[in-house]
Amino acid sequence: MNNHPIQNRFFFVKRFIPKNIKILVVSKNQEVSRIKKLYEIGHRDFGENYVQEMIKKYKKLPKDIRWHMIGRIQSNKLKYIIPFIHLIHSVQKFKHIQIINKEASKQNRVINCLLQIKICNEKNKSGITYQKANHILEDKRYQKDMKNVKIIGLMGMASFQKKIQEIRYEFDYLKNIYNDLNKNHKHFCILSMGMSRDYPIAIEYGTTLIRLGTLIFGDRK
Ligand SMILES: *Cc1c(COP(=O)(O)O)cnc(C)c1O
Repeated sequence: MNNHPIQNRFFFVKRFIPKNIKILVVSKNQEVSRIKKLYEIGHRDFGENYVQEMIKKYKKLPKDIRWHMIGRIQSNKLKYIIPFIHLIHSVQKFKHIQIINKEASKQNRVINCLLQIKICNEKNKSGITYQKANHILEDKRYQKDMKNVKIIGLMGMASFQKKIQEIRYEFDYLKNIYNDLNKNHKHFCILSMGMSRDYPIAIEYGTTLIRLGTLIFGDRK
C-alpha cells in the first residue's frame, strides 16, 4: 500500500469497528496537513476542544468537513463556531443552550447538541448528573423557546484508570441514562462514548459514536 501512515492506521482501526458506529477523529493538536490525509480518503468528521483552534482549521480546510466541539464550552467564544458547527458534545448548562439558541437564530440554523454527563468520580472530568440533564430537557423554556437548539443525545468520558470493571460500570450507567431520558425525549440518536483507550468497551455497551485521537494520529505532542 502506498498510503500515508495515518491513512493506513485509519483503515486498520476501521476494520474492527462495526459499520453502524460513527467514528469521530479527534484532531486537537494536529497539523492541518495530517487532517487533510484523512480528508483525502473520505473522512469528514473531526473533533476539537478549543474554539480558536477549530476556527483556524475551519478556515484552512474544505468546507464540507463536519466539525464537532468536544471540549469544555467557553461561553464567550461559542458564537464564533455557530455559523458552521455540526454537533456540540459538551453542553452542561441551560446558559449554554440560551447562547447557542440566540446565535443560531441569527444564522437561521438549528444546532444539534449533546448533554455531557459525568460518569466517573475524577475531579478533572466534567459533566452533569442525570437529574440535571432531565431538568434541562423538561424545562419549558427549552421545549418552547429554544427552537434553534436540538438536544439529540449524550456524551460521557470514562475514568482514566485501568480497571476494566470500573469502565464497564461507567459506560453501562451512561447507556441506562440514555435509554431512560430517551423514553420522554424521542429525538435521541447519538450516544457519544468511547475514546482510544476504551472504545472496544464502549462498543460492547451500545455507543453510537466513538471519539478517537491518539489511536489514529499517535501520541499528542
Ligand atoms: C482528547 C479527547 C478525545 C480523544 O482522546 P484519545 O485518547 O486521544 O482518543 C476524546 N474525547 C474528548 C472529550 C477529548 O477531549
